[in-house]
Amino acid sequence: MANPGIFVNRSLAPEKIRCFGFDMDYTLAIYKSPDYEELAFELLLDRLVSVGYPHEILKYQYDPTFPTRGLVFDTQYGNLLKVDSHGNLLVCTHGFRFLKGAEIWNYYPNKFIQRDNMKVPQPSAPLLSPLIIFSPRFPSCDTGYKHSNLFMSFRSIFQDLREAMDHMHLLGCLKEKTLENLEKFVVKDPRVPLLLSHMKEAGKVFLATNSDYNYTDAIMTYLFTFDPGDKLPWRSCFDLIVVDTRKPLFFAEGTVLWQVNTDTGKLHIGTYPGPLQHCAVYSGGSSDMVCELLGVKGKDILYIGDFIFGDILKSKKRQGWHTLLVVPELARELHVWTEKSGEECPGLGAGRGSMGQGWCAQGWWGWWWQSAGNPYSQCPGRGKH
Ligand SMILES: [Mg+2]
Repeated sequence: MANPGIFVNRSLAPEKIRCFGFDMDYTLAIYKSPDYEELAFELLLDRLVSVGYPHEILKYQYDPTFPTRGLVFDTQYGNLLKVDSHGNLLVCTHGFRFLKGAEIWNYYPNKFIQRDNMKVPQPSAPLLSPLIIFSPRFPSCDTGYKHSNLFMSFRSIFQDLREAMDHMHLLGCLKEKTLENLEKFVVKDPRVPLLLSHMKEAGKVFLATNSDYNYTDAIMTYLFTFDPGDKLPWRSCFDLIVVDTRKPLFFAEGTVLWQVNTDTGKLHIGTYPGPLQHCAVYSGGSSDMVCELLGVKGKDILYIGDFIFGDILKSKKRQGWHTLLVVPELARELHVWTEKSGEECPGLGAGRGSMGQGWCAQGWWGWWWQSAGNPYSQCPGRGKH
């Protein structure tokens, strides 16, 4: 496993950051891989069978080596593609089969695609392969499955998978199963509460998560509990907590603001006149509200999240926030690249204007400790890998 690194595509002066924002899922709360993905995979398969897909698909198991980032799905031909930033095709699979030369040219003259016409399958990419090879009972044609007068297009299969995912999240069965066995599914790292409490001394800290309050409270309480009966009050590490944010909408017009009763988890219409109430928890709202409540401007904020569209792109482009994207898979990807090619990945070399690797540290918190001028020398992660 390669050491995690920090890559930058523009300079940032950490001492000018006055406010740190965090996403929760896959950012503060890291889910254990592959257990968590396996759980989601099984729930999705169950759902697809319940809406009529053949039971044969249940025999497939989650493949943790299957790539999930940076792929696009061609809904016309049912191919999963890896393309570069210009649209040139690098890898093409159909089901579990990697297509070669002439087969690729047949589908894609010039080995080039218009990315706009493709769908991004993340994070359901590993499920597409079993669905694309489907069942021997259903003979396939170029654009789907045909059997007698039945035609099921690859496009409709992709749509069914999307709907199964929405159903899983809407019903909350993935979260329910996660809460039943937090030790199995969630990484507990003692540096998280330490980092947050130190950051709060250096500036303002807020949490903006798409999860609901009850789930957020359960996860954060777990992350802050190290000895039985010794719970750190996680809410006190934040100046502001916003749940149900519906990012990326949160970074645009937002939604109606509700205040959360932290004893019952129930909502009531929220307003925020006057100074910020200590440990108040809000539901919905918008990023403008965060700035107003905390008395900060977009350029003062560093927002840390794992969702490139919902967390990073919109907060940067619409609100001018500084952003930090957490991509755990990148370390493995770089490891594979350097092992196979024996050279540094193009575009990630050191140098002005390129994405230069700062140095190896224990994730993004290591970066902050060091680049902020090491204000807190007792950081346990500093200098370690
Ligand atoms: Mg997240």
